[in-house]
Amino acid sequence: MSARPGAAVEAGRYGIDREALTELLGDEPAYRVDQVWQGLYERLAEPDEMTNLPKSLRAELARRLPTELTPLTEAVSDAGDTVKFLWELDGGGRVETVLMLYPGRATVCVSSQAGCAMGCGFWATGQAGFTRHLTVGEIVEQVVRAARRARESNRRVSNIVFMGMGEPMANLDAVWRSVERFHGDLGLSARHITISTVGLIPGIRALRDRPLPVNLAVSLHAANDARRDELVPINRRYPIDALLDACTDYLRVKNRRVSFEWALIDGVNDAERDAVELAGLCRRLRPHAHVNLIPLNPTPGYATRGSPPARVRWFRDRLEELGVNATVRRNRGTDIDAACGQLAAGQPVAVSVPVSLEVSPPSPSPSPPSPSPPAGRSAPSR
Ligand code: SAH
Repeated sequence: MSARPGAAVEAGRYGIDREALTELLGDEPAYRVDQVWQGLYERLAEPDEMTNLPKSLRAELARRLPTELTPLTEAVSDAGDTVKFLWELDGGGRVETVLMLYPGRATVCVSSQAGCAMGCGFWATGQAGFTRHLTVGEIVEQVVRAARRARESNRRVSNIVFMGMGEPMANLDAVWRSVERFHGDLGLSARHITISTVGLIPGIRALRDRPLPVNLAVSLHAANDARRDELVPINRRYPIDALLDACTDYLRVKNRRVSFEWALIDGVNDAERDAVELAGLCRRLRPHAHVNLIPLNPTPGYATRGSPPARVRWFRDRLEELGVNATVRRNRGTDIDAACGQLAAGQPVAVSVPVSLEVSPPSPSPSPPSPSPPAGRSAPSR
């Protein structure tokens, strides 16, 4: 091995950039850099699988470029189509990643922070508080490991959503560098990468000025300031009107669609007035914002339930009548606490009910959720 013994490596295996790798490889022939890079990102290989490298170099790479995530559990649901990974970070925090296999695409939902500082009370991660930002390497490693898992089912990751734990706009440098890695090295289209934010306006403006046209999703949940101040406390600093201006601006520069996330909460934001106000906001954007409706998933620290399926359908139809496109997002992974809003590693989630739109309990008062067996939980780590 001819790596310079003194060269300090500050980043782990998926955090190191090509320049630093070149330096690390010292006086190895120049083509080695390409071989290692292709091994990492095209072949999704571990160093010991990079059989085109001399054995001693493989061993040295494994030692000098350690991985940063320690697998704790891997839980599978939806007949194998949803996989939730729980990782331990250096220093002890925990984060989760979810791989979702659909007929035409494979999506990875990544975390950008351990915990979250935004204080949204209905979200399990918000209830658990903030631990720290993730590094580029930790974000990229989530996707590489999920992509390896997808490959076992002969699938390739096609989409990435920053909808796991954390607020990506609060950690935008690391998030952006990972986006560049997904785009440039894993070969994903920027159009298949979505950054979801609680509505941090400076982040939206910063994203507008970066080159790749990624999708922007804004977790709205309420369409007037009084209600949104309660549900999403950061609204007090970045109120709806200014937020909509930032979205308009993003659209103007990027020419991408903006979507609004709306977790439907029974009796809180699922009434006629909510639909009308929300549609009004969507129509302010050109093209109109698309709405993703997610029936609120149960979390331990928030008493209110998700809207019943019939109400969810009604709300969607109402938005359509008002000229706004809306999609009801399937609750993937509810039985393994991997559904939207439930990612709170290490925190017990008491109730776990699959919400199915096909089975519609009588509205407006469905029977209370019953505990489901812990099927598929805590599968041994791979
Ligand atoms: N901080 C970013 C990224 C997290 S995304 C953001 O807020 O957008 C997680 C998505 O799931 C957001 O749309 C969030 O509002 C939604 N969500 C949170 N808690 C939920 C719950 N209990 N049920 C359904 N969706 C939830």
